[in-house]
Amino acid sequence: MIIPILMYHSINLQSSNHLTVSQKQFRQQIKHLSINYNILSLDDIIHCKDFKKLTPESIVISFDDSLKNNIDYALPILDEFKVKVVFFVVAGHLIGENRGDRKVIKDLKRMNEDDLDLLLSSGHTIGNHSLTHSYLPNLSDEMLEKEFITSNHIIEENIGFKPQVFAYPYGDTDQRCLELCRENFEYGFATVKQGYFDWNIDPTNIRRIYVLPQDDAESLNYKISCYKQGKQHK
Ligand SMILES: [Zn+2]
Repeated sequence: MIIPILMYHSINLQSSNHLTVSQKQFRQQIKHLSINYNILSLDDIIHCKDFKKLTPESIVISFDDSLKNNIDYALPILDEFKVKVVFFVVAGHLIGENRGDRKVIKDLKRMNEDDLDLLLSSGHTIGNHSLTHSYLPNLSDEMLEKEFITSNHIIEENIGFKPQVFAYPYGDTDQRCLELCRENFEYGFATVKQGYFDWNIDPTNIRRIYVLPQDDAESLNYKISCYKQGKQHK
């Protein structure tokens, strides 16, 4: 089962760095993707509610880092094109911590409980993106457990159930991470340099496609086509 999964972070009025897609660019990208691909909800894949929905054009769209600007600038576009995505939430943000955040987006506002409720009621999926957004392979066994298990409890306290999908901060894993993910989640997602294209090889170590602000229809098609062939795009 190869389903290309795209990764976004920040959506804002202007693109100020490689992690931030402007709302205008985002709208063009989502318009293209929604016309030319079958954008699946991760919930549908997890629960196999309607497996017939899985076609060769199937893709999934994900957002990392629980940025508030996703609510302000991405959500209206997703609603406009009726696209359902997954938001990977850093549990620490829900309790006012932001230790391990990337420097370029460290000062941006994060989602709160009400934002998560809004996303769920709009039909989106909530995933877990660790407790502190730390580089996981560097952590002790004890700290690592908190990143996978305590984080899921915190998110559960906010949304009423445990997320079933996990995205590794910075995309890197080790055997301990993969084991913890296997024990606690259905699927685990890496970034562009690690993990498998085929979700069946290891469902807890799936590669993703980085969407850049400058990606147009052609480059999105190219990246998705490389993924479907099981190879890294250049
Ligand atoms: Zn992240």
